[in-house]
Amino acid sequence: MQTLNMPDKKGYYGEYGGAYIPELLFNNINELEQNYLKIIHSTEFQKEYHDLLENYVGRPTPLYHAKNLSEQFKTKIYLKREDLCHTGSHKINNTIGQILIAKALGKKRILAETGAGQHGVATATVCALLKLECIIYMGQIDMHRQEANVIRMKMLGATIIPAISGSKTLKDATNEAIRGWINDPDSYYLIGSAVGPHPYPDMVAKFQSIISKEIKQQLLKAEGMEEPDLVIACVGGGSNAAGAFFEFIDSKKTKLIGVEAAGKGIDTGYSAATMTLGTTGILHGSRSIIMQTKDGQIIEPHSISAGLDYPGIGPLHAFLGKRKRALYLNVTDEEALQAAFNLTKQEGIIPALESAHALAILNKLELHKDQVLVINLSGRGDKDLPTYLDHYHEK
Ligand SMILES: *Cc1c(COP(=O)(O)O)cnc(C)c1O
Repeated sequence: MQTLNMPDKKGYYGEYGGAYIPELLFNNINELEQNYLKIIHSTEFQKEYHDLLENYVGRPTPLYHAKNLSEQFKTKIYLKREDLCHTGSHKINNTIGQILIAKALGKKRILAETGAGQHGVATATVCALLKLECIIYMGQIDMHRQEANVIRMKMLGATIIPAISGSKTLKDATNEAIRGWINDPDSYYLIGSAVGPHPYPDMVAKFQSIISKEIKQQLLKAEGMEEPDLVIACVGGGSNAAGAFFEFIDSKKTKLIGVEAAGKGIDTGYSAATMTLGTTGILHGSRSIIMQTKDGQIIEPHSISAGLDYPGIGPLHAFLGKRKRALYLNVTDEEALQAAFNLTKQEGIIPALESAHALAILNKLELHKDQVLVINLSGRGDKDLPTYLDHYHEK
């Protein structure tokens, strides 16, 4: 696949993407679209971005050969340790990038939505560091599910606005953040995943692509080759997967698997497996695959993990799935929980519930001992301890 010219000038990956926005946001999106590549490519930006990634986030994150897990699944498994990033997940790779863009555009205030709270914490963290005002929209249900992250954001100086409409989760927080931006056009809206109107999906994928750039270098050192046989990542909106896939999209060798949340099961009505259940439509400013009824009402998603509880997927993934360049599978809440407990016992690593979805797919793949797999461990499990406690039974 040749992706060098993607997305096109209007932000399309094939039929997916674009910018479907209210007129009141034209100027903001236009300003961003006209300037983001210029800013990203400037030496000043590159220097500050990479300096912060190295000295503040702790990059490069290790590519860890998980020997016990490899033995269990009779194959060779590497874990890309995004869980070791400052603030506990890959999200900060993107927040640093976008906040530097906001500063270059002269913005003083950042608006963001958050689901699990990881994006909100990463945003509030970088706002504290770079002295910007920070307003976070969060679903009221998620505020209860992720109380520790709410406390972190408050300590970091952010104002938190609860989203009380709809299912009171990520989709509703995103709606309210967009509404907030319309009312406050001088602020910068910082999207936390590879979704939203162009240029956000492209910008987020580019900032997260540091993950696959490092995998290439690290695999070359460990295995004498840059390209693994398979890369696996969980998919909410699709930012950690976009970052883990990015450098391999044009590879003829590397297979790509994205894992979505099947929730209680694909057929139960409590699911967030957009690529399996969704159809083409428009959500949050872009044309992609979304979970909707026949007359276009968004179907409330469900996942045990707040970070995957989203009824859409970024346009890049819709495109890769449609062209069969990447395969999108799903696992249930229960399968993800078991995979989290298994990794903890096998390797002494407590993964985020989101990342546990990527691990759980190992049970469903045909694996061989001479394959090299990379699983993107998108985050750590500290925020999920209450959920793990609810489901943990000593055997
Ligand atoms: C937010 C989050 C995700 C899901 O978001 P993507 O944009 O699909 O990566 C996955 N894992 C962790 C740890 C997260 O915090």
